[in-house]
Amino acid sequence: MDAFDPISPNWTIAATHAFNFCCPSCKLSPSSAKQVWVNRRSPVYTENQRKKWQEFYHCECGTAWWGWSNERAPSEFAGRNIGNIDDDMPPDNFFL
Ligand SMILES: [Zn+2]
Repeated sequence: MDAFDPISPNWTIAATHAFNFCCPSCKLSPSSAKQVWVNRRSPVYTENQRKKWQEFYHCECGTAWWGWSNERAPSEFAGRNIGNIDDDMPPDNFFL
């Protein structure tokens, strides 16, 4: 699995936008997802001039969903370079 592959994996096509940053079907958190893909190529700027990008998750239950990076709970990846997460793309080892 390569979360930063420039080509979007097939399973992201059917992904739905989840507003609570967890699986819309079974409520599992993204850390339980079996696959992750980050749309690194097209970040958008928020009203605060900060970048956000789409993060796609393929849940264990088979549901594909995505959320904006700035909607992720701050504790989800606690201790992993959180300091500048709003300004920079995550490092390549972010999801490993
Ligand atoms: Zn699920």
